[in-house]
Amino acid sequence: RAKHEGKNGVRTFQPAMGDETTERVDLERDLREALVREEFVLHYQGQFDVRSQALVGFEALVRWQHPTQGLLPPGKFIHVAEDSELILPLGDWVLRQACRQAAAWGANERGFTISVNVSALQFEHANLLQSVEQALASSGLNPRRLILELTESVVLRHPEAAAGHLTRLRDLGVRIALDDFGTGHSSLSLLRQMPIDVLKIDRSFIQDSHPWEAASSRVLIGVMVTLAHGLKMKVTAEGVETAEQHALLRELGCDVLQGFLLSRPLAASQAEALLSPPAA
Ligand code: C2E
Ligand code: MG
Ligand code: MG
Ligand code: MG
Repeated sequence: RAKHEGKNGVRTFQPAMGDETTERVDLERDLREALVREEFVLHYQGQFDVRSQALVGFEALVRWQHPTQGLLPPGKFIHVAEDSELILPLGDWVLRQACRQAAAWGANERGFTISVNVSALQFEHANLLQSVEQALASSGLNPRRLILELTESVVLRHPEAAAGHLTRLRDLGVRIALDDFGTGHSSLSLLRQMPIDVLKIDRSFIQDSHPWEAASSRVLIGVMVTLAHGLKMKVTAEGVETAEQHALLRELGCDVLQGFLLSRPLAASQAEALLSPPAA
């Protein structure tokens, strides 16, 4: 998304901008209609205990069942939803749907968690607390079963307000995960000030194409695990694709694994099968 800023920050007209703007406006309009027509769906990716490989939770990941373009990943539309205020009703829908599904799958009795991504605008919006309370109340999901995933950049935008928001959410019994950890402007004082329960190590540390990078990543993952455990946080590794990565993450002391090796994000009907694998 190129921005054409002239001097004094005044936007100057560029030939390409017309098309881009039209496309954006179209997408925004389509998103608005999609909300009304309920074209969004959640896929669920399993999260597994690093040792027993038992299922411990799911991450809810939104997709758009587009009438003509098929199933669209969040990368295709979430930024537009975030730039308009559409992320508020969409995020609300995701929360309610994820809590309802987890409760229907027996999260309360079986003890697994459901993780929901929360974007900046949603987090800063006064209604998040109420939204979460309503999603919990209407689904009957135990707050201990819900994990909200936020990124470092979101928390760092207004650190003082963020600490207050997080504390109020946590007072409900909900847990907080720091998503894509290590990719933003991570600050150690952030971990000290914020009530965070889970660090999710970004997949860029897990998946290295070069051996020399892999050596440093190994050291960094080890440090992140020590740091997290020292602060009484759990560690989830995302983007685990190979058995070698699994073995290394286990050796380094990660608690929970998420990645294509163990399960891809799945439609609800398929994800449900992870709960009760057929007897051999
Ligand atoms: P994320 O929260 O970091 O989610 C993990 C992403 O990594 C997902 O992509 C997932 O499909 C992908 N992934 C999982 N395991 C592997 C693996 O082993 N290898 C590789 N290459 N990728 C893996 P997805 O579903 O396309 O979502 C992308 C991002 O969109 C998410 O990143 C999250 O930031 C955002 N997102 C998804 N759903 C929502 C939502 O409901 N609300 C908001 N605000 N953002 C969402
Ligand atoms: Mg996430
Ligand atoms: Mg992530
Ligand atoms: Mg990510």
